[in-house]
Amino acid sequence: MNMYYKIILLVGVLVATGCAVSKNPLRQQVKLLQEGIIKDDTSYVYALPYEEGKTFRVLQGYFTGFTHRERAALDFNMKRGTKITAARDGVVVRAKEDGTLGGLNKKYRSHGNNIVIQHADNSRAGYWHLQHNGALVNVGDSVKKGQVIAISGKTGFAFVPHLHFLVWTSKDGQWQQVATRFQTSKGIKYLRGWKKYRNSPSE
Ligand SMILES: [Zn+2]
Repeated sequence: MNMYYKIILLVGVLVATGCAVSKNPLRQQVKLLQEGIIKDDTSYVYALPYEEGKTFRVLQGYFTGFTHRERAALDFNMKRGTKITAARDGVVVRAKEDGTLGGLNKKYRSHGNNIVIQHADNSRAGYWHLQHNGALVNVGDSVKKGQVIAISGKTGFAFVPHLHFLVWTSKDGQWQQVATRFQTSKGIKYLRGWKKYRNSPSE
């Protein structure tokens, strides 16, 4: 199956599951943030997790679509071998790159190569589905925002090659996935599904 048909099929799945939206109260909050209704937002502004000048499309956004119904996570459509950059300064707390398998089946989930980076405020960002041997940093390394940290792939539970990106914060000892703001070429935004975003300062 070539990429074009895969995308068409994926859109079909997203539309078919579109009514089955999450009941998570955070979903409503994300909507208000995306629409700019919540104004007093002082949260950290992340960099898009790819090189400056590059543009990628968000396939699935926060609490929407097929596998993100209960997830505050973003899927960036990215062909294998794309350089992934750190969205924020931090220390690598997890790096897995020995996975070789991937596909649209939960049995592949444990094969998903990934990097997790801890930030100064104790939040963490995860970068998933990396290529085999695609982690370019090791546990304990300090990384800078914009630094190339990984090579994208399709390991784990992944229909097409993409980067699954998410941020967690710790609240009362519980990890919770949260939506975050990003600097894009069109200003600071909460990203939405099916839109493209260019990594560059506001134009
Ligand atoms: Zn995802």
